[in-house]
Amino acid sequence: MKFHIVTLFPEMFSGILSSGVIGRGVGSGILDVSFYNIRDYAKDRHRTVDDAPYGGGAGMVMKVDPLADCIDAVKIVAPDATLLLTSPGGRPFSQLMASELASEGEMIILCGRYEGIDERVKELYSATEVSIGDYVMTGGEIAAMVMIDAVGRLVPGVLGSEDSAEDESFTHGLLEYPQYTRPPEFRGLKVPDTLLSGNHREIARWRRMKAIQKTRQLRPELIDTALLEPSERKMLLQSEGGQKL
Ligand code: SAM
Repeated sequence: MKFHIVTLFPEMFSGILSSGVIGRGVGSGILDVSFYNIRDYAKDRHRTVDDAPYGGGAGMVMKVDPLADCIDAVKIVAPDATLLLTSPGGRPFSQLMASELASEGEMIILCGRYEGIDERVKELYSATEVSIGDYVMTGGEIAAMVMIDAVGRLVPGVLGSEDSAEDESFTHGLLEYPQYTRPPEFRGLKVPDTLLSGNHREIARWRRMKAIQKTRQLRPELIDTALLEPSERKMLLQSEGGQKL
């Protein structure tokens, strides 16, 4: 999987690319990350990449010309790569989007700065704008890191075991069930008996119920689209009527 990162701050990425699962993916060559510094494509001796907005207003806007020259250079080495543009106003990044991107093989991520980028960049390249949440950060680098992490771990061979990403939050439309490990009791808090029973059928049933219950409590909007058995929906209705799930 190849990531091409267009940024003013390539040095910000060293931590994620040398640590943990993503670090191992890079070390093994399964993940490949290249950087393109927009400032290298500025035309004046001050290497200017921003200018005041037409129409007035606060802050500066990233200029279209160095950005376009930089993207053109990336497109020579990655002509078919999907172009993503980080933006708080973009399409919300999700597990579904991460898994779709993981199957594509190559992507370019454009990291904005200042008050954002000249609108013509989006028009010229039909870029897909992506947001990592409803808040405004100072730049797109952290958003790009979020995408590298969430996409990179889904690329076959990056996680230790192929099925580690199988039963996680959002994979089947639900949040993940609660997890426990040793010791069986800590400061009076016990691990649920079912998990210690060795009965795999009961454990699977308990986990499924807990996942549904947790999703209903913390992310009720996900329940509507989650793939639930009719009996599970019935149980949900009953629990909403006061009975225990
Ligand atoms: N003026 C812009 C607005 O109101 O939408 C915000 C610009 S922000 C200060 C600078 C850059 O940070 C953006 O161009 C984008 O690349 C990045 N950024 C900020 N918040 C983001 C988010 N939630 N998701 C993705 N990228 C974000």
